[in-house]
Amino acid sequence: MKQMLSILACLLCLHAPAQQQGKTENVILVTLDGYRWQELFGGPQKKIYKTKKYTKDLATIKSQYWDADPVKSRAKLMPFMWGTIAKNGQVYGNKKLHNKVTLTNGYKFSYPGYNEILTGWGDRRVNSNDYPDNPNSNIFDFLKTKGFDGKMFCAGTWDAFPRIINTKRNGVPVFVNMKAEANGGIHINGVNIDEWHTTIPPHNPYAKTDTFTYKFAKEYIQRYHPRFSFIGFDETDDFAHGGEYDAYLGTAHTLDAYIQDLWGFVQSDPQYKDKTTIIVTCDHGRGDIPKLEWRHHGRVMGAEYIWIAAMGPGIEALGEINTKEHLHQNQIAATIAALLGCEYKPDHYAGAPIRSLTGQK
Ligand SMILES: [Zn+2]
Repeated sequence: MKQMLSILACLLCLHAPAQQQGKTENVILVTLDGYRWQELFGGPQKKIYKTKKYTKDLATIKSQYWDADPVKSRAKLMPFMWGTIAKNGQVYGNKKLHNKVTLTNGYKFSYPGYNEILTGWGDRRVNSNDYPDNPNSNIFDFLKTKGFDGKMFCAGTWDAFPRIINTKRNGVPVFVNMKAEANGGIHINGVNIDEWHTTIPPHNPYAKTDTFTYKFAKEYIQRYHPRFSFIGFDETDDFAHGGEYDAYLGTAHTLDAYIQDLWGFVQSDPQYKDKTTIIVTCDHGRGDIPKLEWRHHGRVMGAEYIWIAAMGPGIEALGEINTKEHLHQNQIAATIAALLGCEYKPDHYAGAPIRSLTGQK
């Protein structure tokens, strides 16, 4: 019987009873599209914001986000990331401290990046943002076989997510392009998404579509209590491509506030409180300051560098990781599975879990 129970526990990703307390039972994965490690770890970069054409609103950057000390500056830009996630969890990818996180897909743009995050494999065949339905099984497909069927969802700003996740194959609810969908397609009774237009923070004109994504995601999580949620934000990438550095920073600041707001709900809810891990990462980096390639990625040197932040029960409070180490984007899927008590075994290659996050030796 004991053996039966442990087989069952393994199948359903349950932890042994003695270990249940303080363990992760729910995971929320959040991505900030193309958000650079340079701003995450160093705050606004002077060489970019002092260039007038990239920064219309220099006064706001200076007064709200800037400090001569990059540690203070980054905390002004993303107060929740540095005041709460880093304090209680772990943040990987500060290249200046020789802690590196890179993608393995080689393309340095979005679909291949999200494919690598969700499948654990930087599959070279996935070579376009227009790539059709993803043939690779992913963490959703895997968790579906472990008792998570009907307990997962994605809300994303980018309309490629249904293809990347392959919702046609696995039936995972994927909600994208919230503004255009408005009152169609979204089956949340009584919620009029149009009303949300009035709730975009007036002091911050950035992250309009991401605001819809966030509000929808929070509403969905509150109502349906999924055990694995993926929220894909996008506008950091849009503003960077557009060369609007102030808007890029403002978006990151707003998204940080949304993550804080979501965590506030998580810690107030009986299903989630002290049983939920949040992982925040990005699909790709961008170029660096020389030649002003910070705007772009793809065939741009340095855009392979990303970062991973996580906080939750059982995750040691190691803060900003400053050891010489090299992690990869393909480890995220197996890390999510391991946090939920499972060994990620898809029908294709996948990176190993990040041991320092999962507590496994
Ligand atoms: Zn892009």
